[in-house]
Amino acid sequence: MTAEDGLPSETGPATWSTWDRSGTAEGVRTLRPQTVEQLSEAMAAAAAAGLSTRVTGAGHSFSLLAQPQQLRLDTSELVGLQEVDRPGRRATFLGGTPLIQAARELDSCGLAFSNLPDTLHQSIAGAISTATHGTGAGFQSLSGQVVALTLVLASGEIVECSLTQRPELFQATRAGLGVVGVIAAVTVQCEDSFRLHSAEFNESLEPLIAGLGERMASADHFELYWNPGSDSAHTHIMSRLHRLPSEWSAPGSRMAQGVRRSDDAVLRRALPAALNRLAGAAPRAIPGLRRLDSLSLSSRRYTDLSYKVFASSRPVKFLQTEWAVPLEQLPETFREVQKVLEREQADLGLPLSVRCSAPEETWLSPAHARYTGWITVRQFWRRWRPETFEALEEVFLAHDGRPHWGGRHNLQAEQLRPMYAHWDDFLAVREQADPRGLLLNDTARGLLGL
Ligand SMILES: Cc1cc2nc3c(=O)[nH]c(=O)nc-3n(C[C@H](O)[C@H](O)[C@H](O)COP(=O)(O)OP(=O)(O)OC[C@H]3O[C@@H](n4cnc5c(N)ncnc54)[C@H](O)[C@@H]3O)c2cc1C
Repeated sequence: MTAEDGLPSETGPATWSTWDRSGTAEGVRTLRPQTVEQLSEAMAAAAAAGLSTRVTGAGHSFSLLAQPQQLRLDTSELVGLQEVDRPGRRATFLGGTPLIQAARELDSCGLAFSNLPDTLHQSIAGAISTATHGTGAGFQSLSGQVVALTLVLASGEIVECSLTQRPELFQATRAGLGVVGVIAAVTVQCEDSFRLHSAEFNESLEPLIAGLGERMASADHFELYWNPGSDSAHTHIMSRLHRLPSEWSAPGSRMAQGVRRSDDAVLRRALPAALNRLAGAAPRAIPGLRRLDSLSLSSRRYTDLSYKVFASSRPVKFLQTEWAVPLEQLPETFREVQKVLEREQADLGLPLSVRCSAPEETWLSPAHARYTGWITVRQFWRRWRPETFEALEEVFLAHDGRPHWGGRHNLQAEQLRPMYAHWDDFLAVREQADPRGLLLNDTARGLLGL
């Protein structure tokens, strides 16, 4: 069925919103292609009608980057594993495939992502488009794990790119913010399925920050969580168990797994959610409630499949800003962030986190060409204070920080351009791929200065 302007009839709702519900759009036409061909036909028709078109993933960005204005290409039905090259450890997924589905499908083929973010509800294409990352000084973001892409350009043309085939298009699209083309399929370099040993501890903050570089270098995957005002932090150390015989690294008895699931459900999800609701109703009780909250982060150790350890569920809605600073500047940046949050007596309602990642070639990855420390500041959505985040932005900028493309920040093209050596190359590739700017929205125009 096609509408009068040649576009397929709408196949999705006319409203869109982000996960945190802070970004919305209404009255947009929504198409949900199920195949690469349907996607291409929809884009060719949209181009003929001159419609501004935005592709959306799972809505898991905290900015208005994905906000559609006229036409929305919803990729939630463009899902599934397309091809596996088992000896080469490569797998190709359709762009809308949720990361959790991709991780499970890989595991059933004996493969795994090398590294993953802390939640897996994002679409694989949406995640790579903002350089979504996990933690580990030896590991790149998801964009860095991609080896080939199938793209549909604004004209509807289907093109392939990789490190060797149209390499400039590839480098631009790997973290392409949805403005270069729509990623129809993603080929990922994987590794053999592996287990992770997870160890979590409460540690004294000051020595931890003083030795942060060493701690990050000595662990496969390291992250820490800290609540402003507290003099301790919760550390999470994940060790890869490739070389251990599988019977030594089994995920634990059913009872042990059951206890962990209850711990996750009650102490780590329900308790923080309930405490945030209580804090909203009785702000004066906040200090006491926060002490109770620290109970939810007790020490524990367990082993499980890698994707089950990398990610955890996020029951509480929050708003987030995240910045990438040179790894060597991480301790000093953290201390200044700490000062701002303590000066502002910020009640975030959620701990901030600190992670790291390896340098990347991807042109617009915030980890481009440098070892990176990531600081993520989350605030319970009902208590969002823009002033706190503006003060933090100054700290991050003073330490050569680059904002996460999917997080909140106030930067525009004139500040972003000097941060990226390939900024102009990116713009040139975008211009060639979509000369009429059909894939841009107002947010992308502001970010890119178009
Ligand atoms: C609870 C939560 C936890 C998070 N944890 C992490 C984390 O651990 N690490 C981290 O780095 N980030 C994290 N994020 C941020 C998140 O991973 C990114 O913002 C990601 O881009 C969201 O993916 P999405 O599928 O929801 O895409 P959307 O938010 O819908 O879109 C993001 C961008 O991708 C573009 N896009 C979507 N699909 C396509 C496509 N098929 N082709 C081309 N462009 C496309 C959109 O146009 C837009 O520009 C988290 C977010 C939430 C809400």
